[in-house]
Amino acid sequence: MKVQLHSKAASKVNEQRLLELFLDLAKIDGPSTKEQLVADYLAKELPKLGFTIEFDEAHKNFNGEVGNLVAWKEGTDSTIPPLFFSTHMDTVLPTKNLKPVIKDGVIYSDGTTILGADDRAALASYIEAIRAVIESEIPHGPIELLLTVNEQPGLVGARFMDYSKIKSKVGYIFDSSGDVGQTILKGPFSSRIYLKVKGNAAHIALNAEEGNSAFVIAAAGLLTMKLGKVDEETLANIGMIEGGELTSIIPGTVTLAGEVRSFSKEKLNMQLRHMEQVMKEAAKELGGVVEITLEKKYSGFDIPEEHILVQNVTDASRQINVQPYLTNTLGGADTNVLNENGLTCITLGNGFQNIHSYRECISIENLINTGRLTASLIEQWYENNK
Ligand SMILES: [Zn+2]
Repeated sequence: MKVQLHSKAASKVNEQRLLELFLDLAKIDGPSTKEQLVADYLAKELPKLGFTIEFDEAHKNFNGEVGNLVAWKEGTDSTIPPLFFSTHMDTVLPTKNLKPVIKDGVIYSDGTTILGADDRAALASYIEAIRAVIESEIPHGPIELLLTVNEQPGLVGARFMDYSKIKSKVGYIFDSSGDVGQTILKGPFSSRIYLKVKGNAAHIALNAEEGNSAFVIAAAGLLTMKLGKVDEETLANIGMIEGGELTSIIPGTVTLAGEVRSFSKEKLNMQLRHMEQVMKEAAKELGGVVEITLEKKYSGFDIPEEHILVQNVTDASRQINVQPYLTNTLGGADTNVLNENGLTCITLGNGFQNIHSYRECISIENLINTGRLTASLIEQWYENNK
């Protein structure tokens, strides 16, 4: 990959060093809520790069080992607004005993664990990029790292983050499967819905005449429920059904759990109301009742194309011969929670594939480009703000 780079900092990104760092980080076991080993590694390495570090106490809300890590590095020019880079320290499954396999320029595990490219690829790239920034001696503003815990089960660490510890207002999160250059400006609102359907429990041989199957009511409701891709902006799903006691008992209750995502808050609420309504109609028809519980997952975000963060990605990508492309996602990320808490940020692609499975992989090209783009973003941020 000998390409002409116009970013001084990006041209200092050392490909071999980044690859080795990624493999080292990926091998550190840190499934959700058990991120202590990753935190220990960072607490040792980040100060060597000039960061002061602090942990919050988010983990006390969910019995985790360690809180979110906030790391701050002064700029060579303190008049430049600070820029943050964020990712999560946890992986969806353990990476203990990870044996990386590199084939045709792509990094895999040996198929017995996940690779952990989601999102150790970002973590390694941030560290290498900062090394490159230091080695290139370019002027830069303050840099902050927001490294969350317990992201995979539903952005939990970010939700309990102590936002008073954070000095930046704008930043980037590399955590998406698009090739480097992917720039996600819009993310969905999301809520969970629990429908507890009640009929009447009875024994088939003793008092079957009193029975009213909650399953049958729920099935009737489900048959008329719009699910899947509801419209261009909205997705709905029932993902869990729980109920029943014995094969001889007519089930008295069943709980259906699902979620809705939409770029439009109004459409999200409309769909939730629809799910409630059709189930209530089915229950009314068949002599049952329904209890509804809604639980907000996260809020959406929508960053305008003319925002300086977007301009900065466009400039920085061109400096490393990467073509930026603007898009949106119905996936959720810490980006949703950070934006909701006043930290304006966008998600960037780092090109990992098949995440959350043993077939997870990332190309060396995307890994290197993530490092280069991070370095180039820091360099351009200075140029765009000086
Ligand atoms: Zn991720």
